[in-house]
Amino acid sequence: MDHFTLRDGVLYAEDVPLSEIAEAVGTPVYVYSRATLERHAQVFRAALSDLKDPLLAFAVKANPNLAVLKVLQKQGYGADVVSAGELTRALAAGMDPQKVVFSGVGKTHDEMLYAMEKGIGQFNLESEEEGYELSLLAQRHGHRVACALRVNPDVDARTHEKISTGKSENKFGVPIDRAAAIYAALSDEPGLEMRGIAVHIGSQLSSLEPLESAFEKLGALIREMREGGLSVTHADLGGGLGVPYKADDVMPSPAEYGAMVARITNDWDVRLAFEPGRLIAGNAGILLTRVIRAKRSSNGPPFVVVDAAMNDLMRPAMYGAWHDFNAVVPTGERMTAHIVGPICETGDTFAMDRETDALGAGDLAVFRTAGAYGATMASSYNSRGFVPEVLVDGDKFAVVADRISPSAIMDAERVPDWLG
Ligand SMILES: *Cc1c(COP(=O)(O)O)cnc(C)c1O
Repeated sequence: MDHFTLRDGVLYAEDVPLSEIAEAVGTPVYVYSRATLERHAQVFRAALSDLKDPLLAFAVKANPNLAVLKVLQKQGYGADVVSAGELTRALAAGMDPQKVVFSGVGKTHDEMLYAMEKGIGQFNLESEEEGYELSLLAQRHGHRVACALRVNPDVDARTHEKISTGKSENKFGVPIDRAAAIYAALSDEPGLEMRGIAVHIGSQLSSLEPLESAFEKLGALIREMREGGLSVTHADLGGGLGVPYKADDVMPSPAEYGAMVARITNDWDVRLAFEPGRLIAGNAGILLTRVIRAKRSSNGPPFVVVDAAMNDLMRPAMYGAWHDFNAVVPTGERMTAHIVGPICETGDTFAMDRETDALGAGDLAVFRTAGAYGATMASSYNSRGFVPEVLVDGDKFAVVADRISPSAIMDAERVPDWLG
């Protein structure tokens, strides 16, 4: 459920007509709904209410905007970060460092040091090598850091291959059949406090089955590790729950997920952590755009050229992803069209043969479910700027990220003297 609804024929974000935001800020622009973010944060927490004090760590990569992080911080959320930059953002939003977990296969020594000096709650180690390096660094700087070992359970998440992370051929975590031995070796490291295991098998999961089989494997591993005399007090179950991109998409509900987790982890006796990203932010944002013109095609529906492009919202070009596309002021008339951006690449296509509201030059429209993996994946390809972001709260709104102009980006570039 979200708070982008039609009222008197105009699409609103909460109590603000989107046309008012377009007028004030220009297009394209991302618009987030605070009420929707809060609702999702609360629904997910409620779904886990049978568990004892779980850590809820928002996956910052889904939407790293400071204001979004602040909304979630106020909901008691921590952060799952995958870079020093994301950690800086989480801390700037006031998140408790103890509620931060640091994932990622390529943490540099600088990033490790920075994170340990900020006192983060847990490193999720993705390899044995990383564990030894972190231990050395920790000892050298007088720290002992809490760690979980990320396990690759070799299950097929049955999602898009680019966002599947739990198959043995993926780069993430250590093979589950080697996990106990690696954990034992790392437990002897003086710089590390090995306290648990972590798993994250992929994103936009439309079924609970792969998650359930991964968690069952984790449970068996915990039992095996304890029988071997290892201490396990924490387990991080990652994120991955899918969200509906189409009205008729059926996704597992947070409540069903929570019940499954409670059942599987019933006898684990650990503190659980969760890293939801898309579930919290996906339907809490839209990308507001204006039609530049409609262009006839030689042998099919017209091209509706909008002012947003693949550099602003990469998901359709990158994953073939579907985003619902609606007029801000629908007339009731419908059309079939190809929805494209201005970029000089055929990949800059949001939809082919889409049955949509009739739209012409100057009309406003939205791509829905753009709050996760939207603005955060933007680039300046074709020397376009970065799209601004707006947060709506009831009848007020604020620009929470400025538009960055192409010339501001160019200001960071230089022609060396020797080129004349
Ligand atoms: C991306 C990621 C998440 C979040 O995934 P969602 O599908 O957005 O919930 C959680 N944990 C890790 C380690 C990730 O890489």
